[in-house]
Amino acid sequence: MCGSDQAIVTKGSKLSSGVVPEATDANLRPNLPVDAIINLDHGDPTMFESYWRKLGNACTVMFTGYQSLSYFANPKNLCWFLEPKLEEEIKKLHDVVGNATVEGYHIVVGTGSSQLIQAALYALSDPLNEPKPVNVVSATPYYSSYSEVTDFVRSGLYKWAGDAHNFDKDGPYIEMVTSPNNPDGVIREPVVNRAQGMLVHDLAYYWPQYTPITGPADHDIMLFTVSKCTGHAGSRIGWALVKDINVARKMVKFIEINTIGVSKEAQQRAAKILEVISDSCSQTVRPPELDNFFYYSQHLLTGRWKKLREIVKCNGLFTLPKFPLQYCNFTGDFTKAHPAFAWMKCKEDVDCEKLFRGHKILTRSGKRFGSDPKYVRISMVSRDEEFDLFVRRLSTIHEIANGN
Ligand code: PMP
Repeated sequence: MCGSDQAIVTKGSKLSSGVVPEATDANLRPNLPVDAIINLDHGDPTMFESYWRKLGNACTVMFTGYQSLSYFANPKNLCWFLEPKLEEEIKKLHDVVGNATVEGYHIVVGTGSSQLIQAALYALSDPLNEPKPVNVVSATPYYSSYSEVTDFVRSGLYKWAGDAHNFDKDGPYIEMVTSPNNPDGVIREPVVNRAQGMLVHDLAYYWPQYTPITGPADHDIMLFTVSKCTGHAGSRIGWALVKDINVARKMVKFIEINTIGVSKEAQQRAAKILEVISDSCSQTVRPPELDNFFYYSQHLLTGRWKKLREIVKCNGLFTLPKFPLQYCNFTGDFTKAHPAFAWMKCKEDVDCEKLFRGHKILTRSGKRFGSDPKYVRISMVSRDEEFDLFVRRLSTIHEIANGN
């Protein structure tokens, strides 16, 4: 029904508690004023907060004053600042979810996967001793930070070379392959495919709540982050699975020079969170009141996408990407992707970011992703009240006046 705020009921819920996550958690936060500015520009993953709140103290990690003083976490490990408990939980979670091979890989922890992107660019380009900076490319629409991170300090080792589809230079290059892709949620493969290419696979969103898990990824360098896996972006913990020991060593060196390691408190918190998630997926360990984290978060995202698609269909002004039905090895069901971002296109030839700004909805313009201003990226992982207000306001946009 167009323009209504009816509740979303998803069939076949696998939530163990039987408690359907509420669309609006009005008990926790006061409602936003109807005319509030809604900021959906950043992908701040606060939507899973309700899950963690329900767990109460189950994830509490305590530190005494005499703990974690040393720079070192595990001097015998190649990644000497990686907490052993985090290493163990990362491996366990990948085994449980089946989204990446860990056997034979070196784990490098970073202050977010943002630091690991830089570490990977350094590790791949430095040994080449090229007279000119190595080109870094990614297919449009690409994650907007890649261009910023690559050129920020005007490194002599690498430089941003834009859209991988148009890349025709000789020599070594680095291609960032984001799968599922930020901003459009598409499963991707490398596009340049030349002999001197080096690949960095950014798999930040290759988790069951966002996309069907079709098999364990086994690329040379794979980047993951708790920010998008569990929603704990504030802990700033990411990890790389790296096949080549020399590349892993160089990445560790980068982090050593950059920040002399990664916060132990943050690592231990992340380890606890990952442990709880793995337990929540286990038939034997999971307490009855604990929902499987991925079913819970997939359920939330499915509801949001359903709501958004209904409104987009009703007002007829925008389009959204469509995703194929695929078998997910983790859930054992055929599912579609429900990405962390909606890559929305305005059917008319207008600057869509400007259009939304006029309605006090802040989005990220397609231009930032090397694409058209007719597109915007909208975060689907904000808090319930922001998302609810967004869809309500979107349902009131019925026409685009004066090209705006
Ligand atoms: N890669 C991708 C594709 C992302 O979307 C993000 C976060 N927006 C990151 C990396 C960085 O994540 P973080 O630094 O929070 O781990």
